[in-house]
Amino acid sequence: MELAPPHLPRKTRLVIIGAGPHALTFVTHLLQKRAKMRSKLAVFDPSGRWMSRWRQQFAALEIPHLRSPAVHHPDPNAFGLRKFAESRSSELFAPYDLPGTKLFDDFCTDVISRWDLNNQVHQNAVTQIVPGVNCFRLHLQDGQSITAKPVVLATGGAKLQIPDWAPKFPACPVSCIAS
Ligand SMILES: Cc1cc2nc3c(=O)[nH]c(=O)nc-3n(C[C@H](O)[C@H](O)[C@H](O)COP(=O)(O)OP(=O)(O)OC[C@H]3O[C@@H](n4cnc5c(N)ncnc54)[C@H](O)[C@@H]3O)c2cc1C
Repeated sequence: MELAPPHLPRKTRLVIIGAGPHALTFVTHLLQKRAKMRSKLAVFDPSGRWMSRWRQQFAALEIPHLRSPAVHHPDPNAFGLRKFAESRSSELFAPYDLPGTKLFDDFCTDVISRWDLNNQVHQNAVTQIVPGVNCFRLHLQDGQSITAKPVVLATGGAKLQIPDWAPKFPACPVSCIAS
């Protein structure tokens, strides 16, 4: 069932830009310590969902499992993923119980649901952050704006970094790089 989009206030206490695994980890840890922050935070991501870029990239590259062991995940309980995987031990890979991609994804869905975060992500990109006297004004892709302080940037590192010298070389097909 599709949930109604969250209401966008004109100002809020805290804004988190991005809804990937790092933002999700930040939010669960914050709510564990300060449950009252739930109504005082706004998360923005153009997808309007948690983990969308992570899912796209793991699917596109057909990545079978994570590189970090099972204690590294967005739930504040470090052993939460191990408990979740009790009946799915075949999805923990050697040598350090690396979680399979589907297992990790299912666990994150469970985290989002247990922490009641399904309706927390605003479908919008932040296009500009303007410092003000006591807060930041964030301009959004749809023309709206919101003020907040502090602002957490959890936008990932997915920007292409092409060295200045690289364009001098002729284009090389992927097959020639792979061989
Ligand atoms: C083979 C492989 C294995 C990996 N294994 C691991 C692992 O074991 N453990 C691990 O931690 N990592 C692993 N990674 C890397 C992992 O995919 C990234 O570390 C992770 O996705 C980064 O999370 P993030 O929240 O920082 O960024 P992302 O997942 O990139 O999320 C950032 C979000 O910010 C949003 N965003 C960007 N700009 C804006 C904006 N202006 N306004 C609003 N929203 C915006 C994007 O839409 C995106 O949804 C692995 C990667 C590979 C290739």
